[in-house]
Amino acid sequence: MLNKTYYAGQDIDAPCGRCKQETRHRVMTVTNGLPEKLICAACNSIHKFRSEKPKGRRRSARPAAPRRRGQPPAPRASTS
Ligand SMILES: [Zn+2]
Repeated sequence: MLNKTYYAGQDIDAPCGRCKQETRHRVMTVTNGLPEKLICAACNSIHKFRSEKPKGRRRSARPAAPRRRGQPPAPRASTS
């Protein structure tokens, strides 16, 4: 896990509930090292920070994520 440092006034990419997509946000307040309030640069709505990838997933109604076209391409190993 990456330890990012957040600070008020920082621009970060985060999912916006209103825009329904990941947009640029500015951090307004930081609590315990995590952004608490963000303002969306696209729609100017202020909302709480939501972690991009929820962890500790409980059993949900969803089956395993459907795979798209087999496996993702392996990262290129540098040959030089
Ligand atoms: Zn937005």
